[in-house]
Amino acid sequence: TPIPDYLDELMRDCAGTRGGNVADYIPELSKVDPSLLSVAVCATNGHVYSVGDDTAKFTIQSMSKPFVYAAALEEHGLKRVLEVVDVEPSGEAFNELSLDDETGRPLNPMINAGAIAVNQLINGEESPVPERVDYILDFFSRFAGRELTINHTVADSELEHVDRNLSLAHMLRSYDVIQDDAQDAVRGYVEQCSIEVDVRDLAVMAATLANGGVQPVTGERIISASVARQVQAVMASAGMYDAAGRWMTTVGIPAKSGVSGGMLGTLPGQLGLATFSPPLDGKGNSVAGARIFRRLSQDMGLHLMATE
Ligand code: GLN
Repeated sequence: TPIPDYLDELMRDCAGTRGGNVADYIPELSKVDPSLLSVAVCATNGHVYSVGDDTAKFTIQSMSKPFVYAAALEEHGLKRVLEVVDVEPSGEAFNELSLDDETGRPLNPMINAGAIAVNQLINGEESPVPERVDYILDFFSRFAGRELTINHTVADSELEHVDRNLSLAHMLRSYDVIQDDAQDAVRGYVEQCSIEVDVRDLAVMAATLANGGVQPVTGERIISASVARQVQAVMASAGMYDAAGRWMTTVGIPAKSGVSGGMLGTLPGQLGLATFSPPLDGKGNSVAGARIFRRLSQDMGLHLMATE
């Protein structure tokens, strides 16, 4: 079957997926239409296919984490970044305070504590928040191949209910992992999460990682091959939080989810994948998105460890 026909069939099969709830701890996110559904695939040769509500915009949320981690690695090198955040799966929820016993480093950059620490490294370690966020926005825009913008309504909504992330920032400060004022640290992180994308943007961004750092549509090298490898390896072990182990055994695709209902995955050397469906399971991963990824993995034989 040609890819577009296959994606149409896949969408129809998964459109009736029941269960899950739209995130409401960020009030603005609860206003989304829960029936929105889309899938996009970008091959490393630059061909993009998408079906469903593929022009619907949503905030990138935790799917920003692998890309800001990539920016930090490009800017500072692995050695410096490892001093700030480790690469071990936490086995805990995305907003858990999972820190290394001895050093106080967050266990990985895919959980909030790690992402707040990594955000702080961007644009020189002492950057004012607006310049840091501009740097990230520009960096993400190169991955997407178009100029992205920030949804300030969503950012402000999250900032009104941000006690949990603020407490993480305070803990990170107490361990000297971050130097920023806690409010600034969280604002930088929340604005990075509020960059707006659609499912095609995500697929192209994922394909850039899968393609070893070269954006497959524009041809621009954005990160080195070793940074792309590092980011995908951490996604594989920690991208789905406390569901990461089960995800890797059943789906076998490095992936990252976000509470807006997006999900992205990478097949190194082959594909970037993305889905969008707002209702989430108890671990904060899109229910229909996970179902689509499972089917894609089975139908197309995409499990990384599969040999047949
Ligand atoms: N901005 C969100 C938060 O910190 C991102 C969480 C997510 O997408 N899992 O709560």
